[in-house]
Amino acid sequence: MIDLHVHTTASDGTDTPYEVVKKAAQLGISAIAITDHDTTAGISEAIDAGEKYNVEVVPGIEISADYKGIEVHILGYFIDYKSPKLQPVIDWIVTDRENRNKIIVEKLSEEGYDISLEMLKKKYPGAVIGRPHIAESLLQKGYVTSIQQAFDDFLADGKKYFVPRQYLPLKKAVSLIAEANGVAVAAHPLQYDLDDSELKKFLVTAKALGTVGMETVYSKYSYRQTQYLADIADTLKFIKTGGSDYHGGRKPEIELGTGMGDMSVPDIFLAELKSVKGEAMK
Ligand code: AMP
Ligand code: ZN
Ligand code: FE
Ligand code: FE
Repeated sequence: MIDLHVHTTASDGTDTPYEVVKKAAQLGISAIAITDHDTTAGISEAIDAGEKYNVEVVPGIEISADYKGIEVHILGYFIDYKSPKLQPVIDWIVTDRENRNKIIVEKLSEEGYDISLEMLKKKYPGAVIGRPHIAESLLQKGYVTSIQQAFDDFLADGKKYFVPRQYLPLKKAVSLIAEANGVAVAAHPLQYDLDDSELKKFLVTAKALGTVGMETVYSKYSYRQTQYLADIADTLKFIKTGGSDYHGGRKPEIELGTGMGDMSVPDIFLAELKSVKGEAMK
């Protein structure tokens, strides 16, 4: 069993990198990729834990990017996570997120909600803080009864406390991963509300920019959806990847390795990723 899409406390997962790896070992998972949003901060801890628990840890990242006004996610696998090319861009993203968090929190405080940046930083030390953390704080303060309500009433796009953030253009996100010697993969292609022809256009564009893989196996995808994506991958000559998008307690319905219960990522997906990485290094 393998899982190539995993979040930790370095972004909006609730398990530390160490805990995620330990959990993988307990579940009999042989390899996981750490793919935190816009950060590589969890990778070294996960690699160390991987050595202890005999779990292969693939260094990765999940970068949010802009494609024609749509937020798409690009996974980068086997990145040199200490690459000097990567860090300034990550810093730019994190600074933009911090500015945005500040505005969201100010808007909320002005309306009497007891929430501050200091509070968030203390509660989520070292994490790239985003709307899920703010939603959780609103829940814990009793202002909403669920994370979903926090989004529906406060934080979702178009709601009173929504503040946009800046996204790297798709082209930049893909080239950044290449510069860090990583393999770029289009994450969860069915999450972007694109119809069949728009989806193919997106994937063709992503491919032309240097994306080599697409996620065909995903927690939320049925057997038919996975087949549909696999056919596209074969036609467009993408390698296939897959993972649960595990977030620990923040998305409790998703389990590491098995997703909503019946997800299964073939070992060969990892072998193919490695072979692409090997080719690129030649
Ligand atoms: P951020 O990157 O800070 O904008 O947060 C994005 C994350 O918030 C997504 O990955 C989702 O987990 C969550 N999210 C965004 N929109 C919604 C929504 N309408 N309902 C529930 N969760 C959402
Ligand atoms: Zn996430
Ligand atoms: Fe994603
Ligand atoms: Fe993810």
